[in-house]
Amino acid sequence: MKYEYNRRCECGHTEAIEVTRKEACFNLKGHEIWRKKCPKCGKSNSKSMSAPFVEIEKDLLLEWGNNENYRFLDQDEDLILARESYIDLILDVLDNHQILQNKRNILIGALCVIIFDNVETDDKPNQDLIDRLIKELKKRPDDVKNAESWISDYIAEVVFPMLKES
Ligand SMILES: [Zn+2]
Repeated sequence: MKYEYNRRCECGHTEAIEVTRKEACFNLKGHEIWRKKCPKCGKSNSKSMSAPFVEIEKDLLLEWGNNENYRFLDQDEDLILARESYIDLILDVLDNHQILQNKRNILIGALCVIIFDNVETDDKPNQDLIDRLIKELKKRPDDVKNAESWISDYIAEVVFPMLKES
């Protein structure tokens, strides 16, 4: 698997720059690549840049979980992690691994976002998925309590009342 940034210069030249999986996942080279000199015109006037997509796997989630400086790109991390395919991985890391407290909050937040997205959908809500996640969150009341102040209000307003229902 190849991980490449595509940096487009103001002169029109586009350069593909390869990075490692880890560098791509945590955007470790993004700022450097943005400021890089263009091989065609020699200036560092970047116009746009696209970053490679990285599937988050266990090794990367654990590295992230124990390193304060690692971020999944520059977006909201709970949104990046809020994918149905990541649920088992997130639960595994919460239950079986030591990670930083604020990273635990982000993982709980991601589970809440998945619930939110499935409640507030234009399609038919995936009730099985919602029920499963509510059940999983109820098993981890301490984690939910710790994450409470961190989770966005609009998400909390939808998800937290569901956690109180029996
Ligand atoms: Zn250029």
